[in-house]
Amino acid sequence: MAAAAFAGSAAVGFKSSACDRRVSFLGRHTSSVQLPRCFNYSQCGSKLSFSSSGVKTHVATLDQASVEAPPQVEAPVVIVTGASRGIGKAVALTFGKAGCKVLVNYARSSKEAEEVCKQIETLGGQALTFGGDVSKEEDVASMIKTAVDAWGTVDVLVNNAGITRDGLLMRMKQSQWQEVIDLNLTGVFLCTQAAAKVMMKKRKGRIVNIASVVGVVGNVGQANYSAAKGGVIAFTKTVAKEYSSRGITANAIAPGFIASDMTATLGADIEKKILETIPLGRYGEPEEVAGLVEYLALHPSSKYITGQVLNIDGGMVM
Ligand code: NAP
Repeated sequence: MAAAAFAGSAAVGFKSSACDRRVSFLGRHTSSVQLPRCFNYSQCGSKLSFSSSGVKTHVATLDQASVEAPPQVEAPVVIVTGASRGIGKAVALTFGKAGCKVLVNYARSSKEAEEVCKQIETLGGQALTFGGDVSKEEDVASMIKTAVDAWGTVDVLVNNAGITRDGLLMRMKQSQWQEVIDLNLTGVFLCTQAAAKVMMKKRKGRIVNIASVVGVVGNVGQANYSAAKGGVIAFTKTVAKEYSSRGITANAIAPGFIASDMTATLGADIEKKILETIPLGRYGEPEEVAGLVEYLALHPSSKYITGQVLNIDGGMVM
């Protein structure tokens, strides 16, 4: 059963200064060079002054510009699935810090999700929680509707929710296979299809899918998980091809081992073996993955990146 709740609705002071890095996100105020706002306005004023005569006019234009109110820019609306814990939580907080309106999806951890919302508010963003299973079509439809009803659109979708049900193939039950495929692959399909409908109308949007390096190289005991993540990678490339003409980019991030609840239960022996395979000699941090998601989702220079898989794995796969 899906459930949505606002964690507050403080107005976002989403300034449109070109020197504020949030402004140029999503290309709303397009300037690949980060110039201070006053510089932009002054330039504008200088050009106008050519049609008039004399220095006075020029100065007056500059003065006028310097007191002109900056145009208001709407904060990007972001949906992060599985944002109550781990990587999804770090991603949601990063968007909150960037001043976004963030829908924090979760399946069971309502208290944790509400805490994430509160932190987003504290950081300067807006947030609402949405409890729902993103492997279920009706929950996904309701999640997208919640974001659109609250904030009018969806600018960014981060397909992050995922589970593991590990076991060697010879002993893997069909239920283990199906649960992982249903959430980790079908969930990505459902959320992407629903969000892309909204993005298509305004011919703009960014989709970031959290895959895994095991979707590229496979892993013992993870036939279900690696098949789903490999599927996410192929799916991402297809989405990139089908939606590029609509101004929507789609990219996948393939983390290696990241410190989270998912990796906390592996045990000391397995952890030691894993660390030997990581050139940088440590697990990654959720915040490191979040930084890459933020880049692909908001930064103006990533507008030209689509259909790519970016590994973030301490050098495990190269
Ligand atoms: P995590 O700590 O176990 O968190 C999983 C998140 O997914 C939670 O917020 C959980 O919500 C949510 N979730 C579970 N089932 C859901 C459902 N049916 N519908 C909606 N949300 C659901 O996992 P993580 O380590 O942060 O992993 C996040 C993503 O990164 C996953 O896609 C994972 O496969 C991928 N990844 C992780 C690693 C790693 O080393 N950690 C490596 C590569 C890729 P509740 O709290 O409500 O259960």
